[in-house]
Amino acid sequence: MTLAEFTDVFAILATQLRYVDADEVAIRAYYEALKDCPVEFVRMAAQDLSRDSQYGFPRSDVWADAVKAVTKRRVNAVYERVYARRMAGLPPLCEWCRDTGFEQVGDTNRYRPCACRQQRQQEALGNWPLPELPAAPAEGAKRVDIDKVVKRLAGKKGIE
Ligand SMILES: [Zn+2]
Repeated sequence: MTLAEFTDVFAILATQLRYVDADEVAIRAYYEALKDCPVEFVRMAAQDLSRDSQYGFPRSDVWADAVKAVTKRRVNAVYERVYARRMAGLPPLCEWCRDTGFEQVGDTNRYRPCACRQQRQQEALGNWPLPELPAAPAEGAKRVDIDKVVKRLAGKKGIE
């Protein structure tokens, strides 16, 4: 993330949360704390903070925690979809690694990180659409009746 990219994000959040005393020193100080984070996640965290900031303009550690939370949420969103596709029996998104993230090196027993990891990262960053979810079951498809399953399991354990 460049200082110019961060300054744009900072300026929007400062305006939203009425941080009227913000100056270049403040922007640079916050930038030092957050510069290793992707600007996409810093921007998403700023959006979260603008809607749910309890203490006015956040300290840099609060902003960094928000970035961690956004990162976890977005990466989980991507891999939940990869998992849902696998459970639905859809073909893997990546033929090379079959969505494990590791591809075999030639015919050896060695593996290396697969190139599709960069694609999954772009999806998490919001630069690319998330993987498509599997289609809904067809009309009339057999569905699990969760209430029946719970009653049957409870009955086995003698619970009413
Ligand atoms: Zn792959």
